[in-house]
Amino acid sequence: MVEDKIYVTKPALPPMEDYINYLKIIWESNHVTNMGDLFQKFQKQLSEMFGETLCLPTVNGHSALEYVLQALELEGEVITTPFTFASTTHAIVRNNLTPVFCDIRREDCTMDVSLIEELITPKTCAIVPVHVYGMPCQVDEIARIAEKHNLKVIYDAAHAFGEKIGDKSIVSYGDAAMISFHATKAFHSIEGGCAIIHDQNVAMRLYQLINFGIIGEDCVVGVGGNAKMNEFQAAMGLCNLKHFDEIVEKRKVIYELYHRRLSQIHGIAMLNPQMNDVKLNYTYCPIFIDEEEFGISRNQVYDNLKNKNIFARKYFYPITSEFSCYQNMGLRGDTPVAKEMSEKVLTLPLYPDLDLSDVERICDIIVSKE
Ligand SMILES: *Cc1c(COP(=O)(O)O)cnc(C)c1O
Repeated sequence: MVEDKIYVTKPALPPMEDYINYLKIIWESNHVTNMGDLFQKFQKQLSEMFGETLCLPTVNGHSALEYVLQALELEGEVITTPFTFASTTHAIVRNNLTPVFCDIRREDCTMDVSLIEELITPKTCAIVPVHVYGMPCQVDEIARIAEKHNLKVIYDAAHAFGEKIGDKSIVSYGDAAMISFHATKAFHSIEGGCAIIHDQNVAMRLYQLINFGIIGEDCVVGVGGNAKMNEFQAAMGLCNLKHFDEIVEKRKVIYELYHRRLSQIHGIAMLNPQMNDVKLNYTYCPIFIDEEEFGISRNQVYDNLKNKNIFARKYFYPITSEFSCYQNMGLRGDTPVAKEMSEKVLTLPLYPDLDLSDVERICDIIVSKE
């Protein structure tokens, strides 16, 4: 019997009727983009969820990050992590800022805050940490360092939709944050994203920049671009928001099964959130394979799964500082732990309707080492 292919993720789609009902509204209003009614409704629901913060939905998550960095009018060096998706480092470099790479912690792969201060120079203007895999960064310690050295903090919270630290939304930390609503993320609007900004002036600049810097029919005040979210995206976001809590519950059951089956296996490590009282969204299930202890390498496990039509992914390998586009730029930052984790990591399939029997089967293949 040929089994169906299983990929690392699969976009969750809402009941089609729900989306069609929103399409009817779009057809009636004839408003398809440029901050229409659905955009505003979506923006309001997000803002409530994030704790009445200023938030601006955008065409995708990357743009939100890129334009937020521009709106903050930064110059110089930015301390960040190389253990992330290409977008984080690219957003920094595309703003003519210089990334300085800080190493990560083994337990949760977030920035090792004990290493930040030694990377600070007179040119440092900001810190861009990543809540990677939705693991919360050490937000209080980062805030303390930023305040001491007068730095801005912008969180790449692409993976952290819906997460809370205590009773506060995770995006309420820092000067700004970005979330991705890409189809592969915890929550999606097909493509999409959102910037969360806590300063009214920065928010105003951002609002202008994502719409060509235009503030009136005859008045253009910023060298902006175009990152507006359209009504079809907002409609998908509104539909998916209704089901978000159920989806997280399903993900959690799957994650916990993986954890029960794999976390005690010699040579396999799993994430270990370093903070109590966090509400996670269970979007990713990375495992870290130590070849010497486990007996076979990460790449062999990847191939063993692939031979059975199961497509795990090496998120995040290679680290961004090893991309060919960043060689010969003389970038600073030695990150041996990030490199090691990137060479050990394998992110396993995890999506709401993944069968628990398939999870068992995936674990069996991993543990059998063949
Ligand atoms: C997905 C992702 C982004 C970019 O978001 P898009 O919505 O795909 O543009 C940025 N940072 C990280 C860590 C991501 O995983």
